[in-house]
Amino acid sequence: MAGSGRSGTGVHGARLTVDLSALAANWRRLAALAAGAECAAVIKADAYGTGIGRAAPALWAAGCRTFFVAHLSEGLAARAVVPEAAVYVLNGLPSGSAEAFAAAGLRPVLGSLEELTEWAALAGGPRPAALHVDTGMNRLGLSVPDALALAGDPRIPAAGIDLVISHFVSAERPEDPVNARQIADFALVRAALPGPRGSLANSSGLFLDGARHDLVRPGYALFGGNPTPGRTNPMRPVVRLEAGIVQVREVEAGMTAGYNGRWTAPGPRRLATLSLGYADGLPRSLSGRGHALVGGVACPILGLVSMDLIILDVTEAPDARRGAGAVLIGDTLDVDTVGRSAGTIGYEILTSLGSRYVRDYGG
Ligand SMILES: *Cc1c(COP(=O)(O)O)cnc(C)c1O
Repeated sequence: MAGSGRSGTGVHGARLTVDLSALAANWRRLAALAAGAECAAVIKADAYGTGIGRAAPALWAAGCRTFFVAHLSEGLAARAVVPEAAVYVLNGLPSGSAEAFAAAGLRPVLGSLEELTEWAALAGGPRPAALHVDTGMNRLGLSVPDALALAGDPRIPAAGIDLVISHFVSAERPEDPVNARQIADFALVRAALPGPRGSLANSSGLFLDGARHDLVRPGYALFGGNPTPGRTNPMRPVVRLEAGIVQVREVEAGMTAGYNGRWTAPGPRRLATLSLGYADGLPRSLSGRGHALVGGVACPILGLVSMDLIILDVTEAPDARRGAGAVLIGDTLDVDTVGRSAGTIGYEILTSLGSRYVRDYGG
């Protein structure tokens, strides 16, 4: 099993492996599915926890030319590693920041009339930006009526609007009728503002009919998450998280393990301690719920996840010994599965990946 033996490294902590060739393959796959639309890449939150410094250049090398981040600071990080790319900043234009955006050649995704006016007023002529239209999230963006009223408005060219976007409420649930309403409303907006290109689809949206427009904006699927929940994941896994076993011990019936004695041994058991915990982004909600794989055997996480350590029941795992590897994310434990075990979603698992991990970039 690739990378499962970590004995002899002398490192107790966990190792995060990011498969850059899988990332590139995922981008190419989505670009092919986009069927003529440009395939951008959303790399906010440090490229979904994988590390923007390596992920963005790998995507650029695969052919990606347009990137989306959430913050100006993330835009600067992207600019540093993919200097020629078009970089859009999703969370809008904070008041007074237009000069900083312009100086860095970053494109704000303008989310209100105030932002549009402020960007249009920037001296030195129009600079590229996107306009966000809200079709149901009620989070960012102009209302549909406000967007329709901008037809023919000189602020659209003055603000350099080259892209109009909206965002799905429930794209991962194709049966939700809100999708069709958003697709229809976005078509109205496009008809009223015919100049700029249009972008509606995130990862899951790419799989909905009528949602591709000129540019698609996948994030999660690039990093291996399943954009089609309930169906086979068409993406390759990108992230693998392993930790070496620090020590193995035997306990008798009635002994407890971890804080608050939350787990009590029902009989003689072998326990293994791993050197990672909630401070590494392993959710505390995995306490008593999650698993790790030791030699392919699913070993339950016992008791409470600590800050820097977890305890596994390795009674059924003959390979468990000091230095042997345990897989927290990888193989049958894909990010969606880990998210479900933790009572959250794979997105949160990825974007919480800790900075203490040793990071290996394969591929
Ligand atoms: C995060 C985000 C995306 C990417 O969504 P995924 O579900 O990760 O593909 C696209 N567009 C907007 C506006 C976003 O905030």
